[in-house]
Amino acid sequence: MKISIVAPIYNESAILPELYSRLKSASLNISSDYELLFVNDGSKDESLSIIKRIAKEDNNVKFISFSRNFGHQNAITAGIDNVTGDVIVIIDGDLQDPPELISELFNKYLEGYKVVYAKRKSRKGETFSKKLTAKVFYRLLAKITSVNIPVDTGDFRLIDKVVVEQLKNMPEYNKFIRGQIAWIGFSQTYVEYSRDERKSGKTAFTFRKMFKFAIDGITSFSNLPLKVATYMGFLVSGFAFLIILYALYSKFILDRVISGWTSLIISTMFIGGVQLLTIGIIGEYISRINDEVKKRPQYIVEETNV
Ligand code: UDP
Ligand code: MG
Repeated sequence: MKISIVAPIYNESAILPELYSRLKSASLNISSDYELLFVNDGSKDESLSIIKRIAKEDNNVKFISFSRNFGHQNAITAGIDNVTGDVIVIIDGDLQDPPELISELFNKYLEGYKVVYAKRKSRKGETFSKKLTAKVFYRLLAKITSVNIPVDTGDFRLIDKVVVEQLKNMPEYNKFIRGQIAWIGFSQTYVEYSRDERKSGKTAFTFRKMFKFAIDGITSFSNLPLKVATYMGFLVSGFAFLIILYALYSKFILDRVISGWTSLIISTMFIGGVQLLTIGIIGEYISRINDEVKKRPQYIVEETNV
């Protein structure tokens, strides 16, 4: 049995040697037949040269280097497109996901599961707001999608090669891989762990990136926001109809006209807000359709040894 480990790398030069040795011993625990596939996602530091040096010394180390930064999800995708193992592990390259957990994931795999994901019991060294937004987001996502996307998990997981084959058939642009894997199905289970803090460097995920990623997850797996627009439309129209009746009643029956500015400005702003929000929701979906239609490559490889 061959095991492949995929790690996306963006400016991780400080921990790469440690990452390599810990991933190597984690693989050797499972099988002497293994490959470590580092995907350099346009790092601006020494990451690439360190990876190349490691790869020179160790035949089991493969690398793919992008022409620029294409993002975490595309880095994982490039890895998945090129693995040759029977079981594949996706793990962050910043050592926040402990490589030592891989053997536990593998034990579950031996029980017959095709997907074993790592579920975060606690997250060390992350800000309160990141933890809170992540918690709220995963629960909201679980509520509004028909797919059972597990809460509190990242992309750290072990998958069988049958799942890899299916993932290759899903060349989506604004990817949400953890959702795709849930969508694919097969028997899935999890192992709990407590997430370490970053060893060095800092997260590349700004609030803006996280927000975009969250919308990717929602639009990829749910049409509910589009329907919310319809419901809002009905609600606001119904409300408006009642107000019209009241306005006519007070004008013709009571012969009284409510004097204007406040009520006018409130209703105009309210309708304007609802309309813009609705257009925005439609816009999010359309921009993603636009990305799909252009059919650009998901990543561009500059250098590789796979
Ligand atoms: N990463 C990447 N491309 C990016 C951003 C991040 O390949 O554009 C890698 C990064 O090196 C790390 C993993 O993806 O191995 C997770 O990134 P990060 O730690 O910044 O995310 P967080 O843990 O804060 O969610
Ligand atoms: Mg991290």
